[in-house]
Amino acid sequence: MNNLLEVNQLQVAFHTKYGKVHAIRGVSFHVGRKEVIAIVGESGCGKSATAQSILGLLPKRNTETSGSILMEGQDLLSSTEKQLKEIRGSKIGMIFQDPMTSLNPTMTVGDQVAEAFVVHLGISAKEAFQKSIELLQLVGIPSPEARARQYPHQFSGGMRQRVLIAMALALQPDLLIADEPTTALDVTVQSQILALLKELQIRRDMSILLITHDLGVVANIAQRVIVMYAGEIVESGSVEEIFARPQHPYTWGLLESLPRMDDKKGGKLRSITGTPADLLNPPTGCAFAPRCPYTMEICENMKPYEYSLSTDHKASCWLQDERAPKVTWNYERDASEQKTTISPRPFFKKP
Ligand code: SF4
Repeated sequence: MNNLLEVNQLQVAFHTKYGKVHAIRGVSFHVGRKEVIAIVGESGCGKSATAQSILGLLPKRNTETSGSILMEGQDLLSSTEKQLKEIRGSKIGMIFQDPMTSLNPTMTVGDQVAEAFVVHLGISAKEAFQKSIELLQLVGIPSPEARARQYPHQFSGGMRQRVLIAMALALQPDLLIADEPTTALDVTVQSQILALLKELQIRRDMSILLITHDLGVVANIAQRVIVMYAGEIVESGSVEEIFARPQHPYTWGLLESLPRMDDKKGGKLRSITGTPADLLNPPTGCAFAPRCPYTMEICENMKPYEYSLSTDHKASCWLQDERAPKVTWNYERDASEQKTTISPRPFFKKP
């Protein structure tokens, strides 16, 4: 496949006053043309740092980076700031979580959307403003001519997010990076924004890299899902595989913590207990071991291999090894009630 974006062995570490934080630890993935990929995980798992690495937005002063990020063959990690500025907007558009702080409260919405046209295309302010009205219409803002003359505080949260989407799409990027685009919105508006992104992705033939902590939002929009934990990819696969046959205990935890209409547990929300791994001192074994209900001796001592479960489904977990106990995960049961058949092989015995 002719990939639009290829991330290879990306490592990112931040120098802090407490020491070196290994935020991304060898992440590789690709985004195909017209493909929608979601990166899912709790905060601190490295998903936003991955997006910021792609956009060249990490502070250079205290960040160590290695690996490569190829956008149509051009390595973004070795690009100059001038080249990155050109790529941001024209090839890669971005939208972030908080639409209020991303907009300038002192400028009209139309002028803010028009800015990209003036800066990158060098057209007149009047022409750019006219183009911004067309874009506001494209993203579903009613009465766009009148709304373009209003200020961000006159818009609701959902409408402000639509404005940001319009700004991100101004230069017709090939890739849109959306970092938690619906987190600050209520559930109804969330689904409207996701539906809009999906519609625009099809109309504009673009790819989307969606960053989210909520596995629930990816089902209707993404084709592939990457699950990250402690700076690493722990499972990846098509949406169908991840929802129908998830194989990593962390993915099981994410799925169990989704609210469900038909929840037989009386609507009680479950969460993954324990705290995320300390990335100042990354573990030698599986980073999820302290929180995993199935931890075996090997998990604490050796990083799990990446097991290929099908052509497009991989999981890094020792449970995939043929010598490991067989665990049959079922959403309806709590972790303590999951079915486990213990294998007699001592290598995998719990300490
Ligand atoms: Fe749990 Fe071990 Fe799998 Fe890590 S490798 S997720 S600790 S079973």
